[in-house]
Amino acid sequence: MPQISLGETQFACPGDETLLDALLKANLRIPYSCRQGVCQSCLMRCLNVAPPANSQTGLKDTLQRQNYFLACRCYPEQDMTVALPDQQTFAVNAVVIKKQLLAPDILRLVLQYETPLEFYAGQFINLRRGDGLTRSYSIAISPQTGNLLEFHIRRLPQGQFSNWAHGELAIGSPVTLSQAQGNCYYLPGNHGQPLLLIGTGSGLAPLYGIINDALNQGHNGVIHLFHGSRNADGLYLSDELRKLEEKFANFQYTACLSEKHSKPGFAQGRAHDLALADKDSLKGWRVYLCGHPEMVKHSQKMAYLKGASLKDIYADAFIAGK
Ligand SMILES: Cc1cc2nc3c(=O)[nH]c(=O)nc-3n(C[C@H](O)[C@H](O)[C@H](O)COP(=O)(O)OP(=O)(O)OC[C@H]3O[C@@H](n4cnc5c(N)ncnc54)[C@H](O)[C@@H]3O)c2cc1C
Repeated sequence: MPQISLGETQFACPGDETLLDALLKANLRIPYSCRQGVCQSCLMRCLNVAPPANSQTGLKDTLQRQNYFLACRCYPEQDMTVALPDQQTFAVNAVVIKKQLLAPDILRLVLQYETPLEFYAGQFINLRRGDGLTRSYSIAISPQTGNLLEFHIRRLPQGQFSNWAHGELAIGSPVTLSQAQGNCYYLPGNHGQPLLLIGTGSGLAPLYGIINDALNQGHNGVIHLFHGSRNADGLYLSDELRKLEEKFANFQYTACLSEKHSKPGFAQGRAHDLALADKDSLKGWRVYLCGHPEMVKHSQKMAYLKGASLKDIYADAFIAGK
């Protein structure tokens, strides 16, 4: 059985167990969140051998070459000496400057970052609390707005990070951030391409950033947003989005309520069903899908079947770990 060394601690990792599970069993506290290789919170480095190839999937080439890997994807095949990433390389310091409830369960959290940071609206960042608890949140603001980051955090009933962010986290508090990650963002260069954006709940966050970024950069093709929620409270920022619709002739906003209603101005049904039924063909469209993992997975398939090219489908599934 492969032996693992982390600092002074040594333990065995059975072949059917991920390194992350073995670390947690050994009571070693390391950051993690989605457990599915998406959020990259459990990034580690192997100091003695090359880590298994599967554990490096999705990492940048530069990180792969330095033997970084994801603990949640790593089934050790030989003895490994591992370490947490160098804090200097990954830590971005930020401070909370604004908290605002956009809906009863959605917090707008605005941070000012003090360390240089490169990002695109729509990418995600791992936020880390003082005790190491780490969660991913999508960037809802474009980089042109100075040293600011905006996140929309949905409060889950038992959620550790989201409850802390809604409650205890105070204005002026420091928060540590990772570098921005993910490829769900607006790429300039094809200004006339039609864009279809579908999001549920706080899945609006990256889409809101992407839409503002695209409009600021002079995108002149159709930009059609479908935002879905069970009830009207969940369709936050609807006034801002309707104003944006008045200002930009190429922007359309469809607010979708899945519960039965007779409210004027709201479509009846699930956002992805309505969006996909609305377009005869998605050939030539760029499609962004964000929020509930099942909605994202289903819509990816449907968008492809409706003619969107795989390279034009960008997805951000908000996977919550167990
Ligand atoms: C790439 C990426 C981007 C993300 N972006 C955002 C974002 O912009 N905004 C945002 O709000 N979240 C986002 N998330 C999700 C976020 O990272 C956290 O997983 C989420 O906030 C829950 O963390 P928590 O610590 O509050 O809950 P945890 O303490 O981790 O508990 C989560 C628990 O809640 C359960 N659960 C999962 N979904 C629900 C649900 N719908 N209702 C009730 N319980 C549920 C899970 O099974 C789990 O047991 C993103 C995730 C990823 C991977």
